[in-house]
Amino acid sequence: MQINIEDTFNKELPADSVLENKRRQVSNTAFSFVVPKVPSKPKLIHASEAMVKALGLQKKDINTRQFLDVFSGSKVYPNTNPYAMAYAGHQFGNWAGQLGDGRAINLFEVVHDSKRWAVQLKGSGETPYSRQGDGLAVLRSSIREYLCSEAMHHLGVPTTRALSLMLSGDEVLRDMLYNGNAEYEKGAIVCRVAPSFIRFGNFELFTARNEIENLKNLTDYTIKYFYPELGKPSKETYIKFFKAVTDRTLEMIIHWQRVGFVHGVMNTDNMSILGLTIDYGPYGWLEDFDFGWTPNTTDSQNKRYYYGNQPNIALWNLLQLANALYPLVEEPKPFEDILNTYQKEFEAQFLDMMRAKLGLKNSNDEDAKLIQNLEECLLLSETDMTIFYRELSNFKKDKANEGVAVVKKAFYFPDDISNEKKSQWNEWFQDYNNRLKSENLSDEERQSHMNSVNPKYVLRNYMAQLAIDKANEADYTLVDELFEMLKKPYDEQPKYENWYAKRPDWARHKVGCSMLSCSS
Ligand code: AMP
Ligand code: MG
Repeated sequence: MQINIEDTFNKELPADSVLENKRRQVSNTAFSFVVPKVPSKPKLIHASEAMVKALGLQKKDINTRQFLDVFSGSKVYPNTNPYAMAYAGHQFGNWAGQLGDGRAINLFEVVHDSKRWAVQLKGSGETPYSRQGDGLAVLRSSIREYLCSEAMHHLGVPTTRALSLMLSGDEVLRDMLYNGNAEYEKGAIVCRVAPSFIRFGNFELFTARNEIENLKNLTDYTIKYFYPELGKPSKETYIKFFKAVTDRTLEMIIHWQRVGFVHGVMNTDNMSILGLTIDYGPYGWLEDFDFGWTPNTTDSQNKRYYYGNQPNIALWNLLQLANALYPLVEEPKPFEDILNTYQKEFEAQFLDMMRAKLGLKNSNDEDAKLIQNLEECLLLSETDMTIFYRELSNFKKDKANEGVAVVKKAFYFPDDISNEKKSQWNEWFQDYNNRLKSENLSDEERQSHMNSVNPKYVLRNYMAQLAIDKANEADYTLVDELFEMLKKPYDEQPKYENWYAKRPDWARHKVGCSMLSCSS
């Protein structure tokens, strides 16, 4: 297995001078060298062939001893120096101080086809940043991260990727519901891949500690490798950098809203500086459309990270990043100006995104109203978001009175829709039909546009749970089936039609399906 290693992060940024792998507060440190824990009986469950290729590896490498050794953390690849990153963050709105890679260990960076990839293991043991944790991950959360990161990529959502999913062969103790019922679960390791895993929190750490030289080095490093178009370091460049991160973050959020993804833990340590979806924990997919829905039971009291609040939280997190970058610029106004335009830009981009979901190519002043009225209709009774938009593409011009029947499959209780609700829907379909008159697309053209932005298949919470239940019995067929299906979320894929269905009733209140905790 030949890998083109080109490390930069652990060569150009300040290393922890302490080499002992002991939990502690660090200083003047971007990362600490640490080697992965050797798993007792590693076993490969699945590998992403697309990522294998992206890293310049061969398909035949997947089943080699060395692949198993390197991506399970059993052996360090020759001439590489694994490390855990130091970062801080705001968690649930409060300053949390030093966090860092508590159970992620970066192996190396690869350059292939002119693309840089950082490769890291999640769940491979303690680091100086493990705090109260054990540095391990369980199979259930690893399957969720593995499947979802590849699924998001195929949906066109900026995300970290995954190369492989392995069992460690070790048992991991978890109190899944935080109710005093801890149990042993199978340990697992996901190999994650991204151009970089730098988070807002990496910048916050240095500023909080008044390590401004380190802050500058980290920012210059990030610009040099990941935002080279911004040019040489200067105050102006730092402002442009903040604007570029804001733009990428906003773009990511618009995608989340489009596909109905709820991250669940939008703490600043879980915000990628590259605008990638990162750290798949208690995330979830909207089933019945509901702005207030959060998959994370840890957040169900305060309801900070619910679907409808994701755009606001992103802005709040960007404000924390602005505070962290402030010492490089020492003027608040440029940051304020950028933050102040976020809301307007969000509204404009959200509107464009919603137009695309509705198959509208032109823009019209009444569109915001049409969309708002639709959202009100979606809330009249439990309506499956994914199925609704997919079925809506079957709407035929001048058949407004058939609208409700066209989308019927999306209703959780189709027989309970009162005449009053029906007439509100009919009114909306009349407006939609009128609006379509100012477009010059045929029904077929509109359908094909809509089906390229409204996925047919997403990783519904219950699907992941079914795959997990089977995997816990050493049957990985469903992991593979979902992985394959989610490669083409916008295609019809008749052989997977059974997955184009509303959440089954048994999953309504089941742990892992409607309730997820941070325990992973
Ligand atoms: P999260 O909210 O899952 O992104 O994690 C927040 C912080 O807790 C990060 O610094 C993680 O590295 C750390 N952490 C989470 N789970 C564990 C674990 N099992 N062992 C050590 N650190 C962990
Ligand atoms: Mg995290």
